[in-house]
Order: sequence, then C-alpha cells, then structure tokens
Amino acid sequence: MNTDIKFINSNTTIYEDIICFLKYLKQMGATGADIEQTSLQCIRQWEKTFVRKQEYVTRQEKNIPQIQESVSRLENQIPQKQVFKNTNDSLIVLLKKVKACTKCNLHKTRTQIVFGAGDPKSRIVFVGEAPGFDEDKSGKPFVGAAGQLLTRIINAMHLNRDMVYICNILKCRPPDNRRPEPDEMAQCFGYLETQLDIIKPDIICTLGSTASQALLNMKTSITRMRGRFYDYKGIPVMPTFHPSYLLRNESKKKEVWQDMQMIMKKMQDSIHT
Ligand code: URA
Repeated sequence: MNTDIKFINSNTTIYEDIICFLKYLKQMGATGADIEQTSLQCIRQWEKTFVRKQEYVTRQEKNIPQIQESVSRLENQIPQKQVFKNTNDSLIVLLKKVKACTKCNLHKTRTQIVFGAGDPKSRIVFVGEAPGFDEDKSGKPFVGAAGQLLTRIINAMHLNRDMVYICNILKCRPPDNRRPEPDEMAQCFGYLETQLDIIKPDIICTLGSTASQALLNMKTSITRMRGRFYDYKGIPVMPTFHPSYLLRNESKKKEVWQDMQMIMKKMQDSIHT
C-alpha cells in the first residue's frame, strides 16, 4: 500500500482521515459497517441528494456550471423598490431588518446579531435555539463547543457547513445563555419564518426542545418528539437533540445519528419522486 497518499493542499493522509472518521462513527454509537448493496447504492446517491436545488436543475437541464455571485456584489445591487431577484437578495434585505431590530430587550445586550450561515440554496436547514457567547462575539451560528459537534454531525452526513444552512430561533444572545423568553421568541419568530420562506428548504432539522417546540408550535418534550417527521408549511421537520445536550449526554448520539439517517433517506427519496 502506498502510505504517502495525501489530500491535495492537506497535511493529513487519507488513512488518518479514515481513522478519524471511523473513531467518530464509533463515538456516535456505530458498532459495525453495513455494506449491503442497497446501502452502498444509497451512499452513492448522497452526492446527488445534497447538491444545491438550483445546481441540480442546472446540471440536469442545462448542463452548465453554476456561477456563484458574491454577497458584496449583490449588496450593491439591491433595487430601491424591493423586488427580489433571488434568494441572496431577499436574505440581504431581511438581514438589514434584523440588524436594525430593537423589538425586544436583547438588542441592548447583544454584541451583534447572529443571522445565519451556509448555503441559502441548500436543501436542508438546521435551526437552533439562540446564539451563545461565541456566536455573539463572532456573528456566526454554532461556532462554540456545541457548534463543533454540530459540524461533526454534518460531516458524518457526508456534508460540510458550506453545503447546509444554519440559523436560530433567536437572532440575539440571551444574557448568560439563559433560555429565550416566550415574548423574545414571539418577536423574533417572524424573521425565521421569512428566512425559511426565502430559502424554501426541502427539509428542516430542529435542534433541541426550544427550537422544535417553537417551530412546530408544540409543547411535547424533545425525547418524545424526535425520531419522526412533522410538518411546517409543507416542509418535513425532524426534531433531534441539541448538540449541547449531546455534550453532556454522550449516549444520546446514537439517537441523533438515527435521526440524521432518516433525514438522508428522506432527501434521497424526495429526489427520486
Ligand atoms: N446553541 C444554539 O442553539 N445556537 C447557536 O448558534 C449556538 C449554540
């Protein structure tokens, strides 16, 4: 075997990456590998499953590469009369509204808003509860310890953070990371609603009880909610445990992985129907 194989522009060998990934799967509760033909076929479909909506249509129908426009270019292009040309334009208009928001008291203590990150054309959106200390400082969702675990979960789905969209119910950090108050969620919810209306994902994954209950308008505990799909405006929603809960309860990773597998299956099925 050639042990010198390296990824281009990377210091890690393929073997180190594979070992890391297998260790991670073990941590997630995996006890063996399923190499049935049907499962391998399923894995082959993942790349197709998660391509961006527009790219899929483009590749299928026009067979030309997608041109990625830069946000700064688009920011200068917002027309006076807000006629939205595409997803990015619409999100930038919403972003400006959220930046100026003073509807609840959280604007007084925030360093900055945390709007969302990732690919606005992704077919999947992860929704968390609210920014914490690290997110408030950086302006990006899920960058602290829980965020790093979320990144690993996303990677285990054969995706990366640039291929999905991540946001929260609240756009501002509650002081001392306390739970969001009902009135804060009520004031902020419209922003998430518009965000989802613009992105129009094929699937939503809510992280933890606060996000799941708020989006689905339910009071059921996350333990009872997770493991099946619900409906939000015609979009399937999979509630699962919050990554920060997983940091304290390692054994629950197995359930989260089951939920992620159901998501991957749903994405695959939806592309073939
Ligand atoms: N927890 C959340 O719910 N959201 C974040 O962005 C970070 C931690």
